[in-house]
Amino acid sequence: MKEHYNIIENVAVFCASSDGVDPQIFQTAFKLGEELARRDIRLVYGGSKLGLMGQVAEGIMQNGGFATGVIPEFLKTKEVVHKGLDRLITTADMHERKLSINELSDAFITLPGGFGTFEELFEIVTWAQLGLHRKPVGLLNINGFYDDLLRMLKTMTEKGFLKEDNLEILLVADNIEELLSQMHGFKPRPVPKWMNKNQP
Ligand code: AMP
Repeated sequence: MKEHYNIIENVAVFCASSDGVDPQIFQTAFKLGEELARRDIRLVYGGSKLGLMGQVAEGIMQNGGFATGVIPEFLKTKEVVHKGLDRLITTADMHERKLSINELSDAFITLPGGFGTFEELFEIVTWAQLGLHRKPVGLLNINGFYDDLLRMLKTMTEKGFLKEDNLEILLVADNIEELLSQMHGFKPRPVPKWMNKNQP
C-alpha cells in the first residue's frame, strides 16, 4: 500500500516577534528559513522583521526562497514590517490576517514564542480538531522550550478534556528534518470532538 504523503508547497510559520535569550532558538529560526528555501517550500508568515519572525524571513530570502508576509494595517509601520519580502499582503485586522495565512498555506509550523504565537498555534489546532482543515500542524520543540506545554497537554488528556486522538493532531519534533518528515506523512483521522456521555 502507498504511504501517505502530503505535498507541502507553502508553509505558515508562527513564531516570536522577539529575539528571546537562547541562541539555539534564535539560530534555528534562521535555519528553518534556509531549509524551506532548500526544499523549495514557500514561507507564509506575519510579515515582521522583528525577532524570530525576521530570522525565518532572512533565512529563506538569503537562500533564494520565497516569502509572503501577511500583516494587518495597524502593524504596517517602519519599525515592524519587513521591506524585502517577495510579497506583502495587508489585511484590515488580525482576524482577516489569520484567515489569509490559513488560506495561503498547506501546513503550519510553530517555533518558540509568546502570547501571539500560542494564540495562532491553538487556533489552528482547534480548527483541525473541528475538521475545518486537514493540514499538518507541527511544533518545533527547540531545546526543550515546549516541554512544559507538552506536559500540560498530557494533563488535559488525563483529565478528560482532550482526546488522545486529537492530541495527535499536533506533530512534535526537536529538529527541522524530523518535523518536516512527520508533516509529510501526516494522515488526518476524523475524530468526534466531544467525549461527554450524553453527547456524540
Ligand atoms: P509573540 O509570540 O507574542 O511575539 O507574537 C508573535 C506572533 O504574533 C507572530 O506569529 C505574528 O503573527 C503576531 N505578531 C506579534 N507581534 C507582531 C509584530 N510586531 N509584527 C507582526 N506580527 C506580529
